[in-house]
Amino acid sequence: MIAVLLNSGGLDTLASIRKLQEIDPTLELHSLFVDLGQPNATRAKAAAQAIAANHCLTHKEFVFPEGLTAVEVDAETSKTRTPYLNVLLHILAASYARKLNIGYLVSGADDYLTAEFDKKFAAILAEEGRAPYAVIPLYPMRGIAKDDRIQYILNDPLINQTISCNEAVACGVCVKCAERLANGLLAN
Ligand SMILES: [Zn+2]
Repeated sequence: MIAVLLNSGGLDTLASIRKLQEIDPTLELHSLFVDLGQPNATRAKAAAQAIAANHCLTHKEFVFPEGLTAVEVDAETSKTRTPYLNVLLHILAASYARKLNIGYLVSGADDYLTAEFDKKFAAILAEEGRAPYAVIPLYPMRGIAKDDRIQYILNDPLINQTISCNEAVACGVCVKCAERLANGLLAN
């Protein structure tokens, strides 16, 4: 299988690669990192590059220096977040896959994506594209709890280079940092 990998530099990207390689050892992934000006973009970009380099993947970066996403502060946690970031990333990645004539898009993302989004997104891509231009989204880690994902790649030498925190500098206290710390990882 040949697929575009939406490479966020995160744990889920690393886990998704391993999961797909187990299923298909001949898998060919084309890594894509998108910088939409999210607060953690600099750290995420470095992590995405490390993941791509270590897996010998071709690596492409889309950079939108002005930032396409507004940063919101979550009232409950006082932490910043970027609404619909993943929706934008998926659309851009699908467009990149189509440009390369690649029929699959791999994503480890969960935030703001629902089963309903998956269904509609897949339907739109199928409707828009006629073979060989249809792009099928794959979510290898969908349905697997965060702690289980971390345990799955706990021995991966890259795991502490991945990032999770949305902040420009890992805060150490948000839910994402706490998940990492609880599993013995660095807050990143
Ligand atoms: Zn954090």
